[in-house]
Order: sequence, then C-alpha cells, then structure tokens
Amino acid sequence: MTETTASPALTHHADTVLRTLHIVTWGCQMNAYDSLRMADVLRPIGYREVATDDADMVIFNTCHIRERAADKLFSALGRLRAVKEARGGRMMIAVAGCVAQAEGAEILRRAPYVDLVVGSQAYHKLPELIAAVEAKRASVIDTDFPAEQKFDFLPEAQSGQGAIANIAIQEGCDKFCTFCVVPYTRGAEQSRPTAAIIAEAKRLVAHGAREIALLGQNVNAWHGEGLDGRDWSLARLLDALAEIPEIGRLRYTTSHPRDMGADLIAAYRHNEKLMPFLHLPVQSGSDTILAAMNRRHTAAQFRRIIDDLRSARPDIAFSSDFIIGFPGETDADFAATMALVRETGFALAYSFTYSRRPGTPAADAAAQIAPEVAHARLLELQEVLREQQHAFNRAQVGRRFEVLFTGPGRHPGQTAGRSPYLQPVVVADAGVAPGTIMPVTITAANPNSLMGTIKQEQIAA
Ligand code: SAM
Ligand code: SF4
Repeated sequence: MTETTASPALTHHADTVLRTLHIVTWGCQMNAYDSLRMADVLRPIGYREVATDDADMVIFNTCHIRERAADKLFSALGRLRAVKEARGGRMMIAVAGCVAQAEGAEILRRAPYVDLVVGSQAYHKLPELIAAVEAKRASVIDTDFPAEQKFDFLPEAQSGQGAIANIAIQEGCDKFCTFCVVPYTRGAEQSRPTAAIIAEAKRLVAHGAREIALLGQNVNAWHGEGLDGRDWSLARLLDALAEIPEIGRLRYTTSHPRDMGADLIAAYRHNEKLMPFLHLPVQSGSDTILAAMNRRHTAAQFRRIIDDLRSARPDIAFSSDFIIGFPGETDADFAATMALVRETGFALAYSFTYSRRPGTPAADAAAQIAPEVAHARLLELQEVLREQQHAFNRAQVGRRFEVLFTGPGRHPGQTAGRSPYLQPVVVADAGVAPGTIMPVTITAANPNSLMGTIKQEQIAA
C-alpha cells in the first residue's frame, strides 16, 4: 500500500544538497544489515550519516518480534518530536522495518509528525518516497510487498563493514510458527541469487572483510541456481565462498532445525572455513509445545541434529532461542525444556517469555499462561543457561585458537577480536592490525569475554 496523508507539521528543506542522516536500529542482524543498505541508497542523493538524532533525516528501523517494540518506538518518536520542533520542523522522520510493515497508517495516526512509513520491502524506493514527501508536503506510507524481489532492486553495497561483514542472502518466511509475526512483516521466503552474493562477498573482502556471516530469517532454507547452472543449497554456497582466498571464516544465521540438511551437516567435516558455532533455535523441549508452535520437528529430532553435528565437528558449540510460557505450557512441558537444555549444553542462548502478537494464531489460544508463572520459569531457565555460558567460557582458558582481530580494545594498549565461537577476545598488545587472524592462548575468562596472549614474534610477522 502506498498512500499519503496531509502532514501540516512537515516543512522539510528541499534546497540543501548535503543532508545529515541518523539511523536508529533495533532488532536482529537483518535489520542492522538493512540499515547499512538504506544508508547506501541515500548516499548518492546527498545524505551522510551522523551519530546524533539532531539530523535532517532520522530513520527508526524497527523490530516487531515482541510486544514492547511498538511502545519503544512511540516513546522514541515522542522524544524526537521535541528535537524536530526545536529545528523549526526541518527534520524528516521515517519509520522503517517490521513495525512499519505491521502498523502502517496506525503510526501516522498516533504520531502525525512522522513523514514516512516504509516497509521492509521498499527500501530501494527511499529516494522517490522522500521526493514524494517533499513534493506533496504530506506524509507517505509504502508497505507494499511488491512482486519484484527487494534483492533485485537494492543497489550494490558501497561501503565496507570492517573485518567481520554480513550479507543478507535470504529473506522472509513460509513456516508460520504460531507465535511469530515474521511471515506477515517480511513476506514469503526469497533467496538472493548466487552470483550477487558472491559478488558482494568479493566487494566486502576488498574493503577488508575476513569473516563473512550470511543472514536470513531462515538462512538455511536458501537455495538457488548455482554458478554451474545446478540447484545449490546453502552447503554448496558455503563451499563456493570458501574458495575466495581472502575469506578466513564463514558463518550463517538464523537456521531452522527443519532445514538442517545432511549436506549442511556434512559441510562441517570438510569446509574448514565454516566456524564451529551454530545458532539453532529450538524454542521448547516439549513435543506438545513444539507441535502447538507449528515448529514441525520434535525434541528427539533436534537432539539427533545436535548429535550429527557433533560427530561431524567435535569442537562445535551451539546457541539457541527459547520461548517460555507459550500458551498451554505445563510444568511437565517446561521440565522437558530444562532437560533438553541440561543435556545439550549451550554456549549462549536468548530466552524470553512468550509475547502475544495480534494476528498470529497463538494470540487467540485459550490457555494463555499467567505472566508471573512464565516469568518464574524464565528465571529458572536463565540461571542454567547463564551457568552453561560461564562454564563454556571458563573451558576456553588454556586453549589456543585463532582470533580474528577487529580493532582496539576498550582500554589503551589493547586489541580486541572474536574467537571461533564469537566470544570477544582481548589481548594486551596494541599492534595487531584489524583483519589479522592469529593464534591466541586464552588466559582468563569473564562472563562475556576472554583475555588472551599472543607471542611477540607473531605480531612482527
Ligand atoms: N527463524 C528463526 C527460527 O525459526 O528459529 C527465528 C527468527 S525470530 C526473528 C527470532 C526469535 O524471536 C525466535 O527464535 C523466537 O525465539 C523469538 N520470538 C519470535 N516471536 C516471539 C514471540 N511472539 N514471543 C517471544 N519470542 C518470540
Ligand atoms: Fe518466525 Fe518460525 Fe519463520 Fe522463524 S521459522 S521466522 S520463528 S515463523
């Protein structure tokens, strides 16, 4: 839907050539990637990014996955309204991302000083939407899911992202878990063409990337025509990317257990650039709840995938997502989740109480769980998950593995990087160039980071 509504508050300047842009990003890595692409789309028409919201254009790139996302947006909009007024109205405010897609005109009703509401499939149209706002002196909404693919229309990424870079290769979801808004806010599953992915990887490498993370709401559902004309799966794409010599490390996120094909598991045996760390959301350890969630796999199937991955790559570690207090969750269901967590052992996890999302099937389920019950269960789960994370970090002390250095540490004289398991690693040597991959001996573990040492002759080399 593209529509306009009168916006008397709008007095955006049309005559300035160079304009400042501030993008506030909430939510997943896909949103962070989309924000980079929005900046790429706007740079040719004169927008340069600044760090403060006292800017000619402010974009909120929003997340709708849990309830408080919309509240967070409206309170941030309220604060920005004062900044816009202090600038005599000379600010364009845009709302992008999943809240824009889901709420559309409701955003303009509650915050009429917003100039532009742009859904996640329309970022390539930003220049024309901005021109429409300026020409009509009215607010504009574009939340279309166009027939053409967003991937085909976004310009090539212009900027580098540093030593660790993300590439969106898949978007949308056809799986319709009963709790989730993504199929409604991001549309149907789309895979980005192989050649475009490889070209973007080469550009990022030319800008200093050594680690590439492939992104998608269901990244392991990616498939497409390969460079050899055959149908490729994610495993084959990862093999092709591994052939780019400058790429030292590969990752992908977020995967669905149902799409962990045998070839992707096997890739952990032969693809040495594939990092031994996988984010694989399970949500619950109870088959009853998994069925009610429409996850279409059982707890036993999840355990088998974990076992197969561990056989393929014995040093692999896992992170996961959990939803606690899903409608109908009994003490026994929750106990099944706790059992799965204790048995599997996670290096990292994201856990939340179930958030009722209007329009999703589970929102209407009769057996909603009392918030205090869900909260108590969540605390119990998080205690175990936290202990597992700390134990995992402590187990790294004394190990020696390669760290990808990304830049200075928080304190003078330090350089920071990432372990194969994505843990931040800090060394007391200032001379390591970003992009260097070098063995580090881990000397100490904090709850969220590791300390290590490198030999001086390695730095000289
Ligand atoms: N596609 C991925 C998968 O199926 O595993 C997950 C993508 S989703 C954007 C990220 C996480 O948000 C989910 O794994 C789930 O744990 C959480 N989430 C989604 N909807 C939720 C809801 N209504 N309440 C609480 N957590 C939710
Ligand atoms: Fe949401 Fe399920 Fe799709 Fe993941 S697979 S994005 S949780 S609907």
